[in-house]
Amino acid sequence: MLRLAIQSKGRLNEESTALLREIGIDIDESRRKFLAQAPNFPLELLYMRDDDIPQVVASGTAALGIVGLNEVAERGFDVQVVAKLGFGGCRISLAVPKGADYDGPQWFAGKRIATSYPRILRGWLQEQGIEARIEVITGSVEIAPAADIADAIFDIVSSGGTLVSNGLREVEKVFFSEAVLISNGQLGPEDQAVLDEMLFRIGSAQISRRKKYILMNLPQASVEEACRILPAMRSPTVMPLAAEGWCSMHSVVDEADLWDKIRQLKAIGAEGILVLNIDKIIP
Ligand code: ATP
Ligand code: MG
Repeated sequence: MLRLAIQSKGRLNEESTALLREIGIDIDESRRKFLAQAPNFPLELLYMRDDDIPQVVASGTAALGIVGLNEVAERGFDVQVVAKLGFGGCRISLAVPKGADYDGPQWFAGKRIATSYPRILRGWLQEQGIEARIEVITGSVEIAPAADIADAIFDIVSSGGTLVSNGLREVEKVFFSEAVLISNGQLGPEDQAVLDEMLFRIGSAQISRRKKYILMNLPQASVEEACRILPAMRSPTVMPLAAEGWCSMHSVVDEADLWDKIRQLKAIGAEGILVLNIDKIIP
């Protein structure tokens, strides 16, 4: 049975299980144990702390895992990233006290930097040719400068609010992370087929998330122009309306372009525009 390790509780747990549900894999939360079998898919879930996920995947205890790329890079185990999942986005940055005379990476030479990510930090310092002292701290890294344990910190940032409230200023964005699906690359043919099916469904879910279904009433005379505005999967669907000279046009658009397209469509006479969420797209 293919086993997938996911975070038992924390920032990645909810979105990991939401992704599995989105791709049609049921998870029984009420009877959640350390190990649980999905009732409708050949997959077993192993719930654990995110720190341990790269290791259990590398050792083969679980063939797959969902974990932050930051943990993958920090733990240094031999695993492959098979998909980026688009949630759990954050960065690991260097931050210095607000009033420090920071003038570039050389500022860190000879300084003490507190972090829970020594491996990633060491790599960056080496790249920059800087020698600094790394103080490994597991919790509350952001208080280290105020406690005079360090001169600067290297820590996870998402909005930056925690830094500001601790009198710190982000100066170097070093590592960008998101949740990823990892594998140990040693799947037998049956497990590989299950993984391929998961990847196919994840791909489809990711496409659908960025697209909207749009429909509108359009003067017949504007159809050609509307087709140029809305290229669609093959081409937009056009259906006649009972009212003479009008039709209904349906298409799919990238969410990023939505408002721009709507503006263009209104300019050529589109009315009654509806925008709907898409559950699945199978290209
Ligand atoms: P665990 O108990 O499983 O070890 P944790 O406390 O180490 O949990 P969480 O805080 O739940 O970890 O974060 C899990 C992952 O979420 C991080 O490793 C990172 O990839 C991602 N993440 C996204 N945004 C943030 C953030 N603002 N702070 C911390 N982690 C974040
Ligand atoms: Mg952890």
